[in-house]
Amino acid sequence: MSERSPLVRGMRDLYADELARIRFVEEVFGNTLESYGYEIIRLPVIERTALFSRGIGEATDAVSKEMFTFDEESDPVSLRPEGTASCVRAVIDANLYRGGQPKLWYSGSMFRHERPQRGRYREFFQVGAEAFGFDGPDVDVELIRVVQDVWDQLGLANEITLEINTLGNAASRQKHREGLVAYLTPYKDELDEDSQRRLDLNPLRILDSKSGQTQRLIEHAPEISDYLDDESRRHFDEFQERLACQGVDATVNSRLVRGLDYYTHGVFEWNTERLGAQKQVGGGGRYDGLCELLGGAPCPATGFAIGVDRVALLQQDRGIEAPISTPDVYVLALSDDEEGFALDVAMQLRRQTKLRVRMHQGGGKVKARMRAADRSGASVALIIGAHEAASNQVSLKWLRTVQDQVAVPVTELTATLLNSN
Ligand code: AMP
Repeated sequence: MSERSPLVRGMRDLYADELARIRFVEEVFGNTLESYGYEIIRLPVIERTALFSRGIGEATDAVSKEMFTFDEESDPVSLRPEGTASCVRAVIDANLYRGGQPKLWYSGSMFRHERPQRGRYREFFQVGAEAFGFDGPDVDVELIRVVQDVWDQLGLANEITLEINTLGNAASRQKHREGLVAYLTPYKDELDEDSQRRLDLNPLRILDSKSGQTQRLIEHAPEISDYLDDESRRHFDEFQERLACQGVDATVNSRLVRGLDYYTHGVFEWNTERLGAQKQVGGGGRYDGLCELLGGAPCPATGFAIGVDRVALLQQDRGIEAPISTPDVYVLALSDDEEGFALDVAMQLRRQTKLRVRMHQGGGKVKARMRAADRSGASVALIIGAHEAASNQVSLKWLRTVQDQVAVPVTELTATLLNSN
């Protein structure tokens, strides 16, 4: 036997229940976003590395440590670690914001070279939405409302909490950054290793540190609220008022800075206590400077991204089943002579209903064919022998409940199957 090719670390084959849950979450997000008038955009999986280092920031973990990068010598490209930078690039390339205020959503694989564990993979799935051309915060609140709607539909509203903060505008943020560096520099040697590096590159992220020692040091560090100018403060006040008006519960967490460099004003994160260390289910916020940073015209923008895998895990933990795509009906002809008739019956069912109809193939004795029907997961088998074909009937045998086999005229088959559920 030849050697098998093992799965690459951090990658997964997805099928059956696990995939059903992921697809279900994606579907509910997609339908909900479209019901709010967001349009789908499909973005490439590979982009120039520079897009991410400029758009997300060299100093973030996602870019500095976790990207899958190729052709490093000539024209470096990377597998996307997130969707926002690509979405902004696409909007700039097609000038989509000139004629209007696009509201877009996307869904797909993202790649980060992290240490794999439950809820953390090297290929994972995100659903995200971005709105361009609005100063907010009305649209920021709409985005949060969309996600809240999805939690409600998925039965997860009690499992997930929302935290918000503001990072202020660029000027406030710069002052905060300076204040933080001035405060922390005397303690540099006491900070954890990552935070020491961040003190020069990305000091705001130190506020996010998981190290207990660093946490204690930053307890009295200056907060963004100490530096907000009038515009930033107004924005944040209105953001909170609108959230309250829409009945969305949110807690202000002044340490919330988001891992990515491009955020301004309102930022938000959804967390859960149910997934151990993988607390964060999703996040987002306003990134008014990013379009310009990536070579486009200035354009305010805001968005969110949700980790679909983690939402699917939450559903699994709560025992919520997603619809699985096993066949509903298994059609088997008892001999080659009835095959044509059986194919016609199957086709008619597929056209007249949404039922998933699987044909038996591969021949075999009647018993073997029935076993195959059972293994397929279908709830009913349509058995077609010479008698059925001659009388334009099928024999209907329920596979999961104890009921007598019955003969049904083909003309009544659709109604019989639909009424049976
Ligand atoms: P971010 O783009 O870092 O804000 O991530 C948005 C969401 O994607 C997070 O809240 C997680 O739910 C999810 N996520 C990020 N990294 C991973 C990963 N390696 N595996 C699974 N989900 C992830």
